[in-house]
Amino acid sequence: MAPDRPDAEHVDILVDGDRIAAIGENIETSDAEVVDFSGRIIIPGLVNAHLHTWQTALRSAGADWTLMEYLTHLHGECVGHYTPADIHISNLAGALNQINCGTTTVGDWCHNALSPEHADAALEGLVQAGIRAVFLHGTPYRSPETPHPLAEIDRLLDGPVRGHALLTLGMALQGPQYSSPETAVADFRAGADRGLVVSMHQSGGELSPGWEAVRASGLFSPLTNIVHGADLPGAWIEMLVEAGVTFTTTPENELGQGHGTPVTGALLRLGAAPSLGTDIDTAVPGKVLTAARIALAHQRSLDHARYRETTGMHANTASVTAKQALAWATVEGARALGLADRVGRIEVGMQADLVAVDARAFNLWPAHDPVATVLHADIANIEAVLVAGIWRKRDHALIAPGLDELSDQLRESGQRLLHSIGSVRSHA
Ligand SMILES: [Zn+2]
Repeated sequence: MAPDRPDAEHVDILVDGDRIAAIGENIETSDAEVVDFSGRIIIPGLVNAHLHTWQTALRSAGADWTLMEYLTHLHGECVGHYTPADIHISNLAGALNQINCGTTTVGDWCHNALSPEHADAALEGLVQAGIRAVFLHGTPYRSPETPHPLAEIDRLLDGPVRGHALLTLGMALQGPQYSSPETAVADFRAGADRGLVVSMHQSGGELSPGWEAVRASGLFSPLTNIVHGADLPGAWIEMLVEAGVTFTTTPENELGQGHGTPVTGALLRLGAAPSLGTDIDTAVPGKVLTAARIALAHQRSLDHARYRETTGMHANTASVTAKQALAWATVEGARALGLADRVGRIEVGMQADLVAVDARAFNLWPAHDPVATVLHADIANIEAVLVAGIWRKRDHALIAPGLDELSDQLRESGQRLLHSIGSVRSHA
């Protein structure tokens, strides 16, 4: 993923503290632990740019829900029943699952911070897991006129977030889709004043007036992150890309729940690219590599169909490559979360967020195309994960104490929460 290096090479990587100190052949060291990763492919840690980690305890409960059913059951009936302990358990377990899947950075889109205690519990879960995270603070649905609670943003900035090298803060805004124009502008301005990433959902349907209000205020910037963006008008996407706005597609649930056509193709045609998220463990699994493959296959399908329609022939070349899809899951995710100077590439000076994929495994060998091999990897192939130079997974096992106890807590939390949803019963 580093622009000045080949896609794959046989090299040593020297990690010093939390950084990549050197890359090259036969690096001489006297006091380093030497790890032989022959037959493995080392990749930049994956970036899951959009995950509501607080929903981990509700895994698969909404696998057959439409978007409207999800909003009714989760955000209408369930959110208010979360205690800080519920958020903590879900965030800890969800973040550990991400590490297990090869994710080293997560955009934790926490729109269930019902109180400061909930926010602190969410952060504690992330810190305990040892993942790098952008904590995107949000609340359950507020009226369109109610601005983002800035006192809480400033409390988090001054306190719980500041002390942790792996944490940064962003704002999970209701955004123009769910806010009045005045509130949308005020929230954007609050984020800009603090230099924070502001992220918001936008799916399908007509653009609300708030979008034009934010545009007129000149507040779209590289710190703006639009999640989904499905079916946005082309002229709008062009203007937003021009302003440096990033997009995060979560293809599996976008396609399955009825969000509209993923934004991927519209971005690619402008020379831009999406980042990827898995959004909700409630409906789909949290594997970024799966999201990358679904986004790739779906876009190729659309492009093939378009080619056949216009020429009557089958296309001779692929419209999108495996390397592009891997970039969406690494460098583009880093960019969307404001971390492009720290993670997403294997380069000297970057954070040592590294993942070892065991390419000797029967489902990956022989690895003729290393980039595609990585894209095709399953969790069982994720042998080791390093976050900021610290092992979080090694020899195919998470380095985390008390996983059995955590699993019990997660099940109990999920069962209790599911009782708040009228039409759903837990089988766990
Ligand atoms: Zn979402």
